[in-house]
Amino acid sequence: MPGNFALVCADCGQSSAALPSTAFQCPHCSGEWLSARYDYASLGPQLIRQAVQRRHSLWRFRELLPLNDPDNIVTLGEGGTPLVRAASLGLMLGRPNLFVKDERQGPTGSFKDRQAALAVSVMKENNLTQAVVASTGNVAISYAAYCARAGIKLYAFLTSLVPAEKMRECALYGAQVIKVASTYDRAKELAAQFATQRGMYYDRGLRSIAAVESMKTIAFELAEELARALGVPSNGAAGPPPWRAPDWYVQSVSGGLGPAGVMKGFVELKSMGLVDKLPALACIQAEGCAPMVTAFAQNRAAPDVVHSPRTHIATLATGNPGRGYQMLRDHIRTHGGTMLSVSDEEAYRALHVLAKLEGLSMEPAAAVAFAGLIKLVRAGLIRPDEVVVVNCSGHTFPIQNEILGEGWARDVELPAHEAEPGAGAAREMAARPREGLLAALQRLDERVRSVVIIDDNPEATRLIRRILQARGAYQLSEAGNGRDGLRLIREIHPDLVVLDLMMPDMDGFAVLDALRADSATRDLPVIVVTAKELAPDERHRLNGQIDSLLQKGSFMDDDLLADVLGALT
Ligand SMILES: *Cc1c(COP(=O)(O)O)cnc(C)c1O
Ligand SMILES: [Zn+2]
Repeated sequence: MPGNFALVCADCGQSSAALPSTAFQCPHCSGEWLSARYDYASLGPQLIRQAVQRRHSLWRFRELLPLNDPDNIVTLGEGGTPLVRAASLGLMLGRPNLFVKDERQGPTGSFKDRQAALAVSVMKENNLTQAVVASTGNVAISYAAYCARAGIKLYAFLTSLVPAEKMRECALYGAQVIKVASTYDRAKELAAQFATQRGMYYDRGLRSIAAVESMKTIAFELAEELARALGVPSNGAAGPPPWRAPDWYVQSVSGGLGPAGVMKGFVELKSMGLVDKLPALACIQAEGCAPMVTAFAQNRAAPDVVHSPRTHIATLATGNPGRGYQMLRDHIRTHGGTMLSVSDEEAYRALHVLAKLEGLSMEPAAAVAFAGLIKLVRAGLIRPDEVVVVNCSGHTFPIQNEILGEGWARDVELPAHEAEPGAGAAREMAARPREGLLAALQRLDERVRSVVIIDDNPEATRLIRRILQARGAYQLSEAGNGRDGLRLIREIHPDLVVLDLMMPDMDGFAVLDALRADSATRDLPVIVVTAKELAPDERHRLNGQIDSLLQKGSFMDDDLLADVLGALT
């Protein structure tokens, strides 16, 4: 796979060889809107032959994804979701060829699992151990789950409009939830600034190549499944393409990343000769936050920014979708489709109908797409013979409040006049420094404790790192043997050492002796985590030298945390 794609800049049109894949600037013009381009002519014929031999998952199409080494794949079984026919709803609406792509069946219950799987794999490929996202809910949940597996500490900035059960789900995976008492757009600003201040990786949504690329797999899967379900259109002299694009693709839209990626997928399928056309795209927004729909209706090139969303469906509350709108509008103007909005009540009604008629229970944000479908049919925009696919984009898990206990989220209050700016205030605010924002960021600061982990077993190191990073602010440094560990300790003066005993060359006992012999480290707290059954004389050697002793194979995460906290006070 390495180097099988180039990056093309949307601003200057120049292409460059694939950069390190978390980089996001065009080397020619510093533009931030890059997209990946593959060698379609050679990949196309190969793709079908290879893909059909693999199991159904996102990685079925890995030659068209921007990850260099498959060893870095972080997976929970994402992608490969079923395409089910909605026969009853289809009958009711007089549209027999109605299909639902059931993205609720992703590992965390939404299509964001595709994005998280690829984005976190790319983070792993770049050796990142910390990352920041801003989210209307599901991105944070999904990234939190995949980061848990990858051993990456995630800071998730969520607006306080996000339902509590979504926040809890995110915290459950060990992400640090930061609740911002303002709009999603402000939460994004805060997250970006937080990441810059700390030199952390910030996931830039639609500008993240991995994020957009991941969504293509929805198109690939659809086209393959539709061909199986309906056959392929006979195509005259050219002969039929092997796969089939729907006539319509319908999805609820917030920032627009999902449909933008799916449409890129169809464009690629067509350029590889796998389908013969692109679908019309229907983008459905919630009435209380419909910056795309309003602008589209007025034929404007920029979104009609919404400063105070008035919908209960927080997942869809992106007030300023920026370039996402232009990308979707361009597609619709070239290939057909439309944008329309539905009320929260219409979404709730559609939600109930889909559950009763089709056995599909979903979160309101997903139901927005079905309410939109019903409107499109009633308006006569979708003809009776057309093939329609609706993305059933997600479902929410009810995480009970009792599970997490207290203190799992940090609150950021922005000053009242900044929390809900009107259009005038927003302009005025842009002109002066964001004092409120900076003060809010500073309140997030806390005493970060520095911990050195010395263990020759990478699996054990990863587990210890994960236990600590899931629960608090620790600056973690790692060494794979005693000698490197000692060097690290002398260099960074940590607050605590977590030490293995059995290591080749210089073992844990020798490290302890060296630490205790040096006045600079004589009192440094040490927790020993060992797989070794200690002999009486070894126990004696440790006596008085360490703060606690944990036996691998018989300690729980809470034991380690309690010992760490105990040693640090
Ligand atoms: C993220 C999300 C959307 C909106 O998708 P965008 O790609 O951000 O426009 C819709 N439904 C669900 C369930 C989502 O999680
Ligand atoms: Zn450029």
